[in-house]
Amino acid sequence: MTDFIISAPKQVGINITGTDKKFPVRRVYCIGRNYADHVSEMGNDPKKESPIFFQKNPDNIDTSGTFTYPTETSDVHHEVEMIVALQSGGFNILEADAYNHVYGFAVALDMTRRDLQSAAKKGGKPWEIGKAFEHSAPMGIISPMEQVGKMQSGSIALSINGEEKQKGDLNMMIWNIPMMIAFLSRFNKLQAGDIIMTGTPAGVGPVHKGDKITASIDGLTTLEVVVV
Ligand code: MN
Repeated sequence: MTDFIISAPKQVGINITGTDKKFPVRRVYCIGRNYADHVSEMGNDPKKESPIFFQKNPDNIDTSGTFTYPTETSDVHHEVEMIVALQSGGFNILEADAYNHVYGFAVALDMTRRDLQSAAKKGGKPWEIGKAFEHSAPMGIISPMEQVGKMQSGSIALSINGEEKQKGDLNMMIWNIPMMIAFLSRFNKLQAGDIIMTGTPAGVGPVHKGDKITASIDGLTTLEVVVV
């Protein structure tokens, strides 16, 4: 066993329905601008162009049921998204082969420091400071694909304190799951443990301390998160 000079970081794991075993997370990829109605609400042209990918850190994942309001911002937005968890990977995966690499799916939130992201966009700077921060990826429980199917359609929605804010359908994705896996694997070697956050429908907006966020996708375990 390797002897490290300081304690090695903990492996992040996500719960799975029907087992005590966890899904070990390697990388967290996120696709931007993947539902046309959300592309429009952010002031961009939804006409199909190459997809935008950015990353969060595995230890930004929070499965505690709380979201700790971050520092250095006054405008944190919710984005409800489905995640795809990969059980294998590779370079140059074909669309026709993409689902063979999928382990399962879960509901997640791509929490965003919108003020910092907007400033970065304006300055032509990277988005990380607006996207990859502590607790920025609240995540629910993974359902294996063998139980829930390919998740190509179905309602995706988010409400705050019982009031509906986001509502869409998985079939509204501009880049569907095989397309995004194929595209991403041209640039990065996907591997077991990688997660892809698949984008958000329209209706994003701010959250505040005390809010109760309910994020749901037909067929998956609902994610409930309290902002603290
Ligand atoms: Mn997003």
